[in-house]
Amino acid sequence: MTDLFSDAYALAQDAADPLSTLRAQFHVPRHGDGEQAYFCGNSLGLQPRGARAAIDEVMDKWAREAVEGHFREPAPWMPYHALVRDGLAAVVGAQPAEVVAMNSLTANLHLMLVSFYRPTRERPAILMEAGAFPSDRYALESQIRFHGFDPTTDLIELQPDEPEGTLSMAAIARAIAQHGPRLALVLWPGVQYRTGQAFDLAEIARLAHAAGAVAGFDLAHAVGNLPLQLHDADADFAVWCHYKYMNAGPGAVGGCFVHARHARSERPRFAGWWGHDQASRFRMGPAFVPTPGADGWQLSNPPILGLAPLRASLQLFARAGGMEALRARSLRLTGYLEALIRERLADTLQIATPHEPERRGAQLSLRVAGGRERGRALFEHLAGLGILGDWREPDVIRISPAPLYNSHADILRFARAVAAWRD
Ligand SMILES: *Cc1c(COP(=O)(O)O)cnc(C)c1O
Repeated sequence: MTDLFSDAYALAQDAADPLSTLRAQFHVPRHGDGEQAYFCGNSLGLQPRGARAAIDEVMDKWAREAVEGHFREPAPWMPYHALVRDGLAAVVGAQPAEVVAMNSLTANLHLMLVSFYRPTRERPAILMEAGAFPSDRYALESQIRFHGFDPTTDLIELQPDEPEGTLSMAAIARAIAQHGPRLALVLWPGVQYRTGQAFDLAEIARLAHAAGAVAGFDLAHAVGNLPLQLHDADADFAVWCHYKYMNAGPGAVGGCFVHARHARSERPRFAGWWGHDQASRFRMGPAFVPTPGADGWQLSNPPILGLAPLRASLQLFARAGGMEALRARSLRLTGYLEALIRERLADTLQIATPHEPERRGAQLSLRVAGGRERGRALFEHLAGLGILGDWREPDVIRISPAPLYNSHADILRFARAVAAWRD
């Protein structure tokens, strides 16, 4: 029988996978003479080694060319955001004109709500999950108030129906059916940040549309984690950030998807000059004519320094062979983590994330037996050994093996450290 807990097994798994070499393309934080086992890619992804060169290129161009840097090859700033377009479209499963890198996640969510949340007296409501990331809830609640409606009746928060705090598709379908006639919008996560549960976006969009509502998605924890097919899933819009699994750095420029059927939408929008039709933008005329597609929702010329690392990151996604290849590796890594826990750590760590691979991404949320104090003690013990997960109150350690840079060896190190601490 193979011993999953042996170095030989973990090292052989890593050696057999050509994608293991991508780790060398990242700065892994040091711990003593070695490297950390870094499992916080769901919070802040590691720095690609190419990121600094991408920023330096902008700094040098600014020093040498100043204002002419907007137009001079290579990588002029005027169309700079277009340099990431194809790479992003590939990562989220969209047509290139459906995606744009701009602003930040919450700002993009508000811009999308301006266009896609149009409440009426008959249809004022938004359906979301209870326990959503607070920023999303603040955005939705404030938008409902902004339109003169009342969040206590018009923000519908679906409570988990499964024991570990996850949601069944049946419960989502029931909620959409129950509230259907009053629903203006269903806003759902691709992957729930606390439980790690992944959702069937195509099915949620189908149900929302059948009820006469708009379907929008927050993909903060899904992009760069799971293969997405936003166009085929028929999402109306989606927003995400690039500092988690996308590794584009703290506060990196965010992402936004608008389905092609809305490319020439006449819905209301908050406009800015960078969303103006590119052919006539610099005529500086008074009337706003939007660029067709997601680009038409841009407000400002983008922060080039904030976009530069995303170019470096997207090159690595391309080098990996795309999201399907990364997902295959991710399934092996997270499956290995789960197997180690089930085999020897089940008395200490209870897995709150769904067991079925199609209902989760890279992350496992682990509830520590014995409650908060014991959980904190384990978390701090691991951090002291250079094994970094992150902590979610009251008793959860989130461990997220990122397929671009985590290894079976990292996971074995985590599991052994937990076993040694317990014994
Ligand atoms: C990380 C995250 C955010 C963060 O929002 P910013 O606007 O980028 O600060 C928002 N929503 C979800 C679901 C997240 O996971």
